Amino acid sequence: MRIVLVGPPGAGKGTQAAFLAKNLSIPHISTGDLFRANISKGTDLGKQAKSYMDAGQLVPDEVTIGMAKDRMEQPDAVNGFLLDGFPRNVSQAEALDVALKADDVKLDAVLDLEVSEDEVVKRIAGRRICRNDSSHVFHVTYKQPKTEGVCDTCGGELYQRDDDKEETVRKRLEVYHTQTEPIIDYYREQGLVKTISALGKVEEVTARSMEALGR
Ligand SMILES: [Zn+2]
Repeated sequence: MRIVLVGPPGAGKGTQAAFLAKNLSIPHISTGDLFRANISKGTDLGKQAKSYMDAGQLVPDEVTIGMAKDRMEQPDAVNGFLLDGFPRNVSQAEALDVALKADDVKLDAVLDLEVSEDEVVKRIAGRRICRNDSSHVFHVTYKQPKTEGVCDTCGGELYQRDDDKEETVRKRLEVYHTQTEPIIDYYREQGLVKTISALGKVEEVTARSMEALGR
């Protein structure tokens, strides 16, 4: 199956993508991983991407598309893949269609993880991270530490990252609404969109997604 996963920040997209890819035995292709892999291998596209990132600029669509195309043509992706973070705007979606058509294949579904703006803010703005180790993650509502402001694992101080502040989250949601949501309409016209509620436990969302995919 060839799947695109979309959803706002805070929808749990990365976690869901990993579970679905495993259940469906297809590679999980995330833009974050693509960038890291191309930059660490020093590919031409990786070098181009790095030069933009070092200059604090957005990586142009053609660079991102090039990396995604290379990855989709790897042997493990012959029977399908799950794209996460790509396409992120309509012009990338159009480029993806062109690339797939050239290989004489097409997408099977676009999974749209749905979660309200207030829930996204609650999820992200409630996160608290340990100053000693950023993998020690807590949440003021969903995963409270035994003592407020103190890491259960190592006793470190918990704090809220700037990226997680409500104002920043609302700005990221705004970008999602203006740039990424239009691709849902684009794919809806192709009859590909399956909207799934992203509320509840990770495994519940996975089960809903598998059902929507007919698996
Ligand atoms: Zn800690």
